[in-house]
Amino acid sequence: MFELLKTDPRSKARLGRFTTPHGIIETPVFMPVGTQGSVKALDPRELLEMGTQIILGNTYHLSIRPGLDIIQAGGGLHQFIHWPHPILTDSGGFQVFSLAKIRKILAHGVEFRSHVDGSLLSLGPKETMAIQRALGSDIAMTFDECPPHNCSPWEARAAVERTIRWAQECREQPRASGQQVFGIVQGGSNPALREECAKAIVALGFDGYAIGGVSVGEPEPEMFAAVEMTEPFLPADRPRYAMGLGTPAQMVELVARGVDMFDCVLPTRVARNGTAFTTKGTISIKAGYNKADWRPIEEGCVCYACRNFSRAYLRHLLNVREILGLRMLSVHNSHMYLQLMSDIRAHLTAGTFSEFRERFVAGYVPSQKVLSARLLSRTAEEER
Ligand SMILES: [Zn+2]
Repeated sequence: MFELLKTDPRSKARLGRFTTPHGIIETPVFMPVGTQGSVKALDPRELLEMGTQIILGNTYHLSIRPGLDIIQAGGGLHQFIHWPHPILTDSGGFQVFSLAKIRKILAHGVEFRSHVDGSLLSLGPKETMAIQRALGSDIAMTFDECPPHNCSPWEARAAVERTIRWAQECREQPRASGQQVFGIVQGGSNPALREECAKAIVALGFDGYAIGGVSVGEPEPEMFAAVEMTEPFLPADRPRYAMGLGTPAQMVELVARGVDMFDCVLPTRVARNGTAFTTKGTISIKAGYNKADWRPIEEGCVCYACRNFSRAYLRHLLNVREILGLRMLSVHNSHMYLQLMSDIRAHLTAGTFSEFRERFVAGYVPSQKVLSARLLSRTAEEER
């Protein structure tokens, strides 16, 4: 199902191809996040036009609203949201541990109150796999516990033990036809825990492996370290997915560390604050200096927004709160992320990835505001 096509001789970067029931995914790949069954502000036609190969859906949110019965009556998630291409669903574990109001951790899952209406619900390995089976996603994720950054060593260990036990229970559940299941490695910033968790999860045998417990508020060097201490224990012939990451420069660096798949709410989240991603960093389109700037957001970008609109016009739209402004920034930002992955794949094919990596990372100025938006997104109600 996963074909490793090429490995970069100067880094751990990999070019691959991943076959799912709803289509082939070329890796490295960025997966736009459709938490509630929609990539915020974008429609499927736009997603396809910008080269989207796979999107994310969210078990926790979708099972609360509109509810599984409605999605099943609508023909499953692909048909309900009119996206006939690959979908990855996350297990809901992250939301249960970050959003739910009251919770009790039990041997076989978590009891919690819905963040919407306070109703008492429970979610565990059995429930999440049943929901993901009914949704009919191409890739389902195991139910894990993602403890907060800076949790005690005792909490980190307990989370790893539960994550391993729950992964095994997920492994035993029936799947939708052709559905693949990815195991998740936790372990925080502790090398021994990461190794132990990775070995145990890999021993269970999954179709792919995710590195979880990153993007939970840790400083960037710790995030890279967590990936570096996990990657050596993951098999080369399965895709690797870094959950919830990252900025463009971070994704380039993570590709160089052997990661194949990414998801991040940043492109659409910061768009709604009037921030645009470029290959040189972020710019605030709302800023006064764009008032009479007739250039597109980024020269050379072929997205619909850059082909048709000036910064001056987009700034105007944002200032008067026209929905089109937010939509066009979401179009540009998502396109930028997808184009970056397409460029990475082209450089891997041509054998020039390392030169590209050096040039890109040196030219990219990270914005503190964007990095803090990433942290905010971890607790925001509406997103994963
Ligand atoms: Zn653009």
